[in-house]
Amino acid sequence: MKLVILGPAGSGKGQNTARIARKYNLKHVVVGDIVKKEIREKTDVGKIMYDYTSVGKFVPTNLVMQVLNKQLKKLDGYDGYIIDTAPINMEQFEKMNIEELDAAISLEVADYDILRERVLNRLRCPSCFAVTSVLDAPEGHCLDCGAELEHRYDDNLPTLNFRLKQYENETVPVIKSFKALGKLIKVDASGDKDEVFKQICNKINRFFSNKAKKEV
Ligand SMILES: [Zn+2]
Repeated sequence: MKLVILGPAGSGKGQNTARIARKYNLKHVVVGDIVKKEIREKTDVGKIMYDYTSVGKFVPTNLVMQVLNKQLKKLDGYDGYIIDTAPINMEQFEKMNIEELDAAISLEVADYDILRERVLNRLRCPSCFAVTSVLDAPEGHCLDCGAELEHRYDDNLPTLNFRLKQYENETVPVIKSFKALGKLIKVDASGDKDEVFKQICNKINRFFSNKAKKEV
């Protein structure tokens, strides 16, 4: 099972990706993390990436795709992978091996007020990296490890509005391209998190059982 997951800020990508990865025994590939890892380990490509990030520039797509493809080749006993978050624009889409992917899961929330509320209430644990909400942890302590929770520096309204606009302009065309290939699993992610996860699993199961029927 080779998947990617896409969705705007606040759609629940991180949490759902972790749950999907556990349930289907998939390697959980976080694009931002593998870039950081290359930089931290000072690999040849990591050193080149550092030259960009250290002056506040984006790492060029070619380099990101190079390290991503390297990760996708090593399955380490998993039954596939799920990529969070790529391709986020058409440039990445064109440089990825889309043929090899089974499907893109698109988490959709039509009501942006829901996204705003989720993102502005979001808290993160600096110690175990759990993500929670002011509503679930009103005391401000991590429910898993007890550390003091913090807001992410970019979880504010102007940044969120910018990211939503960018999502519409750059990522929605990618979603349309997956749809045209018959590789889109669209999920309404506006509800409660367990209900959303259940819907994702039902749709994944249906997608792969239909795919298997077609291949017979
Ligand atoms: Zn914690």
